Amino acid sequence: MSECIFCKMINKTIPITPIYEDELVLAFHDINPVAPVHVLIIPKKHIISMSDMTDDDSQYLCALAKAARMIAKQLDIDQSGFRIVANANDDGGQTVHHLHWHVLGGRRMKWPPG
Ligand code: 5GP
Ligand code: ZN
Repeated sequence: MSECIFCKMINKTIPITPIYEDELVLAFHDINPVAPVHVLIIPKKHIISMSDMTDDDSQYLCALAKAARMIAKQLDIDQSGFRIVANANDDGGQTVHHLHWHVLGGRRMKWPPG
């Protein structure tokens, strides 16, 4: 497995406090939050971006969606609303090259995003 920063969190080389975890995904607070709630959900497999997912990875998509739903409820933004963002590659603004979903909430989001 590649030793990117998120893989190190999965492998516990870098300690984190998970706010949600199951056999397929791990979630934790973003180190540089851009909203009152800013959580990252990552698959426990080094997939670089949405562009690199295969049909065999669909179980991770389901797990990401389930985690997002659970986290929104846990952090009480499920009814007020939230946004899921998955930046992919350069034009998408991706800076960490291990697939992740941002779950953003706790404030009114703007559209279109920058
Ligand atoms: P991207 O720009 O790739 O969509 O998002 C990467 C996110 O990872 C950024 O929001 C950034 O703040 C977050 N991040 C980068 N390094 C760390 C870290 O060491 N710990 C945590 N919790 N978040 C990180
Ligand atoms: Zn990785």
